[in-house]
Formats: sequence, C-alpha cells, structure tokens
Amino acid sequence: MSQPKFLSGDKAGIDEFLDRFDVFLFDCDGVLWSGDHMFEKVPETLEMLRSKGKRLVFVTNNSTKSRADYKKKFDKLGIPAEVDEVFGSSYSAAVYIARIMKLPAPKNKVFVMGESGIEQELESEGVPYIGGTDPALRRDIEPEDFTNIANGSMLDPNVGIVLAGLDFHMNYLKTAIGFQYVQRGAQYLATNIDSTLPMSHSFFPGAGASGAALEKAVGKTPVSFGKPSQAMMDAIEGKFKLNRSRTCMIGDRLNTDIQFGIDGKLGGTLAVLTGVSKKEDFLADGAETVPSAYVNAISDLLG
Ligand code: PLP
Ligand code: CA
Repeated sequence: MSQPKFLSGDKAGIDEFLDRFDVFLFDCDGVLWSGDHMFEKVPETLEMLRSKGKRLVFVTNNSTKSRADYKKKFDKLGIPAEVDEVFGSSYSAAVYIARIMKLPAPKNKVFVMGESGIEQELESEGVPYIGGTDPALRRDIEPEDFTNIANGSMLDPNVGIVLAGLDFHMNYLKTAIGFQYVQRGAQYLATNIDSTLPMSHSFFPGAGASGAALEKAVGKTPVSFGKPSQAMMDAIEGKFKLNRSRTCMIGDRLNTDIQFGIDGKLGGTLAVLTGVSKKEDFLADGAETVPSAYVNAISDLLG
C-alpha cells in the first residue's frame, strides 16, 4: 500500500490534491471542532473550498442531533453551512426507511431506542414512530411488565422496525420491548454502532455500546447507517448525485471516516490529526486503514 502524502506546508501538493475533487465529505467532530471548541480558521478553509467551486457535505455519526440541531451548532460557532449540506446518521436511517424500505402502512412504525435527533429526522421523512424520548419508558421494569410484554399488551402491533442509536436513557425496559419486537419480526437497524464517542477531551460509550444489550439478546448485528456503513454512502450518493472518483472524504478517525471513503471507492481520503487517530496508526507497517493524504489541521489546506 502506498504511503499517504503529508500535505501540511506543501502548497503545490495541496493544489494538486484539491484539483482532484469536486466534492468534499467532511466529518465534523475532530475535524471542524472538538466539542464546543472550533479549530483555527475553519470558516476561512471552508470559504476557500467553496470559492474554488467545491461542494461540501458535513457527514456525522452523531445520531442524537438532527440536521436542524447541527445547523444551530454551525451557526453558534460561526461556521457557514446550510441544513441541506448536513448528513447525519439519524437522517441517513430515516431516508433509508422512508425512501428505500417503504414498509406498507400500518406495519411501518419504528420503535426508537435513542434521542430526539432520531425522532426529528423520522418526522422530517414522515415516518411514524414510538419510544424515543417518551418519558413513560424511562423507568425501571416492574414484574407485571414481563407478562404484559410477553402477551403483547404493552406492544404496538404496527411496529415493523426497531431503530437503535445512542440512548442516554437506555434501560432494561426498553431493551426488553425492542427485543420482543425483533422476535416478532421487526427489522433491526441502528443509526451507527460506534464503540465510543469523544467528549470533554475523553471518550465515553458510543451508540454501539448503548445498543449492545439488545444486540447481544438478538444475536445479530443491526444494519447500520453511520460511517463506515455503505448504506450511508448510498444515501449520500442518492441525495447529492456524487461522482465518487471526484469525491474526497475528510476525517479524523481511521475506522469510521477513512474506512468509509475507502469502502465507498472514493477518489481520495484525507486524515486530519486534530481528532481520534494519530499518524502512527496509519504510518505503521501493516496498518489496516491508510488515507491517501494527511494534514496536521484542516486549516493547513489554506497553504
Ligand atoms: N455520536 C455522538 C453522540 C457524538 O457526540 C459524536 C461526536 O460528537 C459522534 C457520534 C461522532 O461524530 P462524528 O462522526 O461527527 O465524528
Ligand atoms: Ca470525527
């Protein structure tokens, strides 16, 4: 495998690299910002790319926020972006459910195991759902619940899909209900299955961890719509009509972002060293996931 090209400080190398692409898929956390701290010269870098006629799409695995929530975050940090340029794992799942699966009503209801970002995106695509942030499910399981779940009286017969994302209120009751729906034939999907997520300069259990109890009980991995899943790439391609060979994925995490671009056979991938992965991770002999190029920080593209 060829070594990735280090572009920081290499003006000619940057120009040649940027010329190869019309579309840049941007990972957000770790590339544009870390938590609520925006990295240096992010608006200027995006402006430079736009002034060259590049199309930008912001691709995030964070299922807890909708595209509208992300737009608010971009606005708060002073980064120019449109709602339509944001593509999150909740939106990706909602688009897939509404436009590709198209389950016939009435058995097209989704049981949500996650936060409001999922609910908002299902609503935006007109998909009926239950669960999610419903306070009635944020409680301990009681002995009579076992009977009522088993005999179906606590279940909605119209649930055809269980969709799991990061759930800050995960509990046994929801896991038991989700499990019963899958047992009764509901399709088992996940917004994303990241093991961890970066927060407050540390790591915390991610969507894959919060959904692991259900996954263990079901005994199979859910279909996932977050990077590196190609279901997400297909959904992005459907919406933005990508020419994959002229598209570049930019990200900080090798096993999600860079692998997403490689599996999607994009023209190139760019690793940014302001996030999770370190250059030793891809420069090491036998590294599994190697980007086409890398920079210390995204603003290095300004040359
Ligand atoms: N999931 C959650 C809940 C997050 O908060 C984050 C990062 O903030 C992620 C996933 C990873 O997001 P990204 O794909 O933008 O790195
Ligand atoms: Ca990231």
